[in-house]
Amino acid sequence: MADPKGFMTTPRRDWPRRPVEERVADWDEVYVPGALLPLITKQADRCMDCGVPFCHDACPLGNLIPDFNDLVSREDWRAAAERLHATNNFPEFTGRLCPAPCEAGCVLAINQPAVTIKNVEAAIADRAWADGLTPPRPPDRLSGKTVAVIGSGPTGLAAAQQLTRAGHTVAVYEKDDRVGGLMRYGIPAFKMEKRHLERRIEQMRAEGTKFRTSTTVGRDVMAADLRTRYDAVVIATGATEWRELHVPGRELTGIHQAMEYLPLANRVCEGDLERSPMSASGKHVVIVGGGDTGADCLGTAVREGAASVTQLDIYAQPGAERDEDADPWPTYPKIYRLSAAHEEARDLESAPAADADARLFAASTLRFTGDGTGHVRSLHLTEVDARRRPVAGTARALRADLVLLALGFSGPDLEDGLVEQLGLALEPRGTIARDAGFATNVPGVFAAGDAARGQSLIVWAIAEGRAVAAAVDRRLTGSSRLPAPIGPYDRPMSV
Ligand SMILES: Cc1cc2nc3c(=O)[nH]c(=O)nc-3n(C[C@H](O)[C@H](O)[C@H](O)COP(=O)(O)OP(=O)(O)OC[C@H]3O[C@@H](n4cnc5c(N)ncnc54)[C@H](O)[C@@H]3O)c2cc1C
Ligand code: SF4
Repeated sequence: MADPKGFMTTPRRDWPRRPVEERVADWDEVYVPGALLPLITKQADRCMDCGVPFCHDACPLGNLIPDFNDLVSREDWRAAAERLHATNNFPEFTGRLCPAPCEAGCVLAINQPAVTIKNVEAAIADRAWADGLTPPRPPDRLSGKTVAVIGSGPTGLAAAQQLTRAGHTVAVYEKDDRVGGLMRYGIPAFKMEKRHLERRIEQMRAEGTKFRTSTTVGRDVMAADLRTRYDAVVIATGATEWRELHVPGRELTGIHQAMEYLPLANRVCEGDLERSPMSASGKHVVIVGGGDTGADCLGTAVREGAASVTQLDIYAQPGAERDEDADPWPTYPKIYRLSAAHEEARDLESAPAADADARLFAASTLRFTGDGTGHVRSLHLTEVDARRRPVAGTARALRADLVLLALGFSGPDLEDGLVEQLGLALEPRGTIARDAGFATNVPGVFAAGDAARGQSLIVWAIAEGRAVAAAVDRRLTGSSRLPAPIGPYDRPMSV
């Protein structure tokens, strides 16, 4: 803490976003390039270095937040990068994509805006790459043990990097043609440019991790073969089984799942397609689902040139301030948040049918009707009360040429045959069952990330990857010095 009064003299300032008109004309990150570093030292100085840092507990990775805030405020970037990488393999991912539960738990947030912890994290990560402080760290010697990691999302990548660095020979199997999981084809580039992913993959390759893309375990490679070829197998296949909307008219064309739509737009950015076959260009778009996936569809549809975009959220609009009874500090509160995509829709007035920022709150879909050729034309909705009962007299129709369903995910996709081939036990809710040591019911097979935890966040996925790596290392060598930031049953801090 270079300035003990920093929190009293310096107001919070976030990484500025580019002007809306400029950023919706491309797919680059929404932030002003180079604008974070000049302001971050003073922002880190706002950290009070309080005796009990709740932020540290609120971060599933256990990031050493007051420590790195202090180092950034003193501009000791080398030490800050070391401290951050000691707990987080991929801070440039979380520095851009994490909803920052740490900031909700910041002691300063009791009566003032929290320290911009997530921005500090991104700044350290970016500076570390710029200054060459993130070289590959191959192991000094090999253990002679082999591990197959199935799935290359943040869980699989974190597990693979930890195990490779511990000396094991690791191969990552990925059914998509590129590595990255949902960070590759789910999350749009305007939230995180793919170059961050490429750089880490290059680092991992240089450390010795092997990647086998376009290989579906269960189809191209039998799961049982992997079990016999490798000393341990980590299943990190995610939870991509999407939830359906069972209402009349669902069979009409033009109604798609978010994860059918977003990958195509991402493939346009990758240069694989000239134009998305589901492009929102010129269409009236309605997104069903008020979460982050819905917001990603919103930002994508705006960039594709939709005629209008409306997002339906079944929950009532939350307040601007934390409800101290429902969500007391330091839990992550339900408050009104304006994502970059919502800001764009608001400023461009993209949603004439909705509230200012494109969202219609407390709105439930009743049915779809078509245009006479089998294509969707209208979405019929009603306002609902807190118990999701329709409010009489509020039914109305919205013009909808393209409907995107963003209703969340129920668990792992079972169609590949992986679960069946291995005889893996499932939890009642459909996720892969595991014990306190991340081990499944099949000896030598471990499960981690969304596949076992259920739909979650990147910060949890990285924490799961690190923790399962420690469990596998212990199994292979009898003990482990790898850190395990979480247990399989740990849950986010809540009331
Ligand atoms: C649209 C969208 C936006 C999101 N935005 C955010 C965000 O901004 N911030 C945030 O924190 N979280 C976000 N999330 C959640 C986050 O992306 C996930 O929690 C996280 O990616 C889970 O990581 P994972 O490694 O467990 O699984 P995944 O990222 O799903 O990766 C699993 C990988 O396994 C592969 N695979 C599956 N089966 C097989 C098989 N049989 N053989 C070989 N490979 C296989 C898949 O192709 C995939 O690449 C978002 C999710 C979605 C859908
Ligand atoms: S990973 Fe997320 S919770 Fe942890 S310090 Fe970074 S922004 Fe905060």
